[in-house]
Amino acid sequence: MPTSSNVAPNDLSAFWMPFTANRQFKKAPRMFVAAKDMHYTTSDGRQVLDGTAGLWCVNAGHARPKIVEAIANQAAELDYAPAFQMGHPKAFELANRLVDLAPEGLDHVLFTNSGSESVETALKVALAYQKVIGQGSRTRLIGRERGYHGVNFGGISVGGIVTNRKMFGTLLTGVDHLPHTHNLAKNAFSRGEPTHGVDLADELERIVTLHDASTIAAVIVEPVAGSTGVLIPPPGYLQRLRDITKKHGILLIFDEVITGYGRLGTPFGADYFGVVPDIMVTAKGLTNGVIPMGAVMVSKEIHDAFMQGPEHVIEFFHGYTYSGNPIASAAGLATLETYKDEGLLTRGAELAKVWEDALHSLKGLPHVIDIRNIGLVGAIELQPIDGQPTKRAFAAFLKAFEQGLLIRTTGDIIALSPPLIISESQIGEIVSTLSGILKTLE
Ligand code: PMP
Repeated sequence: MPTSSNVAPNDLSAFWMPFTANRQFKKAPRMFVAAKDMHYTTSDGRQVLDGTAGLWCVNAGHARPKIVEAIANQAAELDYAPAFQMGHPKAFELANRLVDLAPEGLDHVLFTNSGSESVETALKVALAYQKVIGQGSRTRLIGRERGYHGVNFGGISVGGIVTNRKMFGTLLTGVDHLPHTHNLAKNAFSRGEPTHGVDLADELERIVTLHDASTIAAVIVEPVAGSTGVLIPPPGYLQRLRDITKKHGILLIFDEVITGYGRLGTPFGADYFGVVPDIMVTAKGLTNGVIPMGAVMVSKEIHDAFMQGPEHVIEFFHGYTYSGNPIASAAGLATLETYKDEGLLTRGAELAKVWEDALHSLKGLPHVIDIRNIGLVGAIELQPIDGQPTKRAFAAFLKAFEQGLLIRTTGDIIALSPPLIISESQIGEIVSTLSGILKTLE
């Protein structure tokens, strides 16, 4: 049995790695040992430019002093406080700051420890709310094809990624899915929002007709689907979902785990698209990815409904041992301060044009069949063969890692979402590295 002093990076005798080809990793381990600002340091001493903000989360860059200090101070002052029937000031303070930042009308916050938990919390709030207001027959949930809502059972049920669903039994029943908004034939190489597809929102009317509105509790979508390759909706699509849900008494949930905290150049995707959901799911950038934490923001109407029941009853039977954990709350506060001090929540808007032009300069390179961008996130899609995904994007990921650039891939898609502190010359670096790689891909 290896000890911590002799454990090798490719020793997988104990650690079963998440979402990883464990046997392949063993042959070619990729290990980080440090990170600062825009760069990781690998175990063999190389600098790797972070083109993905870790996993779409380190929006302020790595090892930012305010956040590091806040965590250290909080750990020394109050490391843990019970989360149920008791509290501590920083969780209340963070909830207030989040309500200040959230779109008008979202005025209460439930804390969780991850995006997946935020999704489960949002779905449970939606179902319980319908019961609380006497609409208990509304038990159906509607997600979307190619949606990613984490890995717990609610999330994979409303999510639309086949590989994440098919091994795990029947999942939640009473779930339906909208079609995804990705239309390569009509929208390839769109800059920002694509032109075609607003009518896909009308599929919701079809689902409502099929099941009857009285059976549907909520619709959940990512404003921009992230993990399945940065799928951007056409203008008016989200507004149309908002109109249809409102008309039928169905709650609209935005999963903003990626689009939240500045990724699109606005505090939240809801701000970018000018559409306010009833529930907003967040995590990742809330604490700059440094400490696990999520936050679910709900409308005043939802919160008020729960507060109107008999007073001796706990209003919502749900919560986690670590909900609003003091160290996570301190990290969240310091993260929001860092975003504010450095104007990071709108930096994606300032850089959007430079980013867009840089990414689209890759048009015409071998295998590239689409380039998409919005705010400071983007994707390059490569040609599948006979409709089947190839390993080209993953090969590009391996080459990029060797050449000092971190990218993400899903199927034939390369996704990019750098920390919002990225400089224009670093954007140039990402694109020139990728250009070199794309030219040599088989
Ligand atoms: N929702 C969305 C939109 C996400 O992108 C993710 C993570 N990529 C999640 C939920 C799940 O978050 P976590 O991995 O923190 O559980």
